Amino acid sequence: MNKVFDFEQAAIGSIVVGPLQTNVYVIGCKETKEAAIIDAGGNAPGLLQLAETLGFKITKILQTHAHIDHVAALGEIKEATGMPIYLHPADQPLYDAAVEQGKRFGFQLEPLPPVDESLEDGQVIEIGNLKTQVWFLPGHSPGSVAFFFEELKVALSGDVLFAGSIGRVDLPLSDPASMKTSLERLKKDMPDDTLILSGHGPETTMEMERKRNPFLNQDW
Ligand SMILES: [Zn+2]
Ligand SMILES: [Zn+2]
Repeated sequence: MNKVFDFEQAAIGSIVVGPLQTNVYVIGCKETKEAAIIDAGGNAPGLLQLAETLGFKITKILQTHAHIDHVAALGEIKEATGMPIYLHPADQPLYDAAVEQGKRFGFQLEPLPPVDESLEDGQVIEIGNLKTQVWFLPGHSPGSVAFFFEELKVALSGDVLFAGSIGRVDLPLSDPASMKTSLERLKKDMPDDTLILSGHGPETTMEMERKRNPFLNQDW
């Protein structure tokens, strides 16, 4: 089901794709109509349709990380839009192993198109007149990032933070110790009034997660 989060300067549409019920997003600037896909995880036609319905033109493809359920539609999206793919370089090994990752989940996948741009902590990316800041939050995967839209008070948290939970840290290349550091950073620095849009499950707020998320509040 499509969900749309509406703001004065922006709209964010989301759909749920694939067997792992991954949330993938289109976020666009209402003034310029430029938009980014965040996580081309599946259902490329659905994502492109979503952008069209919102009146947006895709100009960037931003990846929170390179797990198969977040990259599976990159080939089709790249072919349809020709736009640059952004990924943190620490997830390049997972990206390069996409075909093998796919086999484990029963995806038939062609090798992915090359990454065009590196993401790094603190980098600011423009989507039309919108600005998003990259937060490097490794742990779930070595190159996991969140995209923080400070003016909108929205963060797309990938598989780092979920409503009431966090992303798995028992996967190949996961690292529980860096996940703890990443969660401490979120807890310390992400404002309470931030709407959190996760890679899986419902939206939440940072305030809510500070109050109820056991992984932010207890030793584990
Ligand atoms: Zn993941
Ligand atoms: Zn995922």
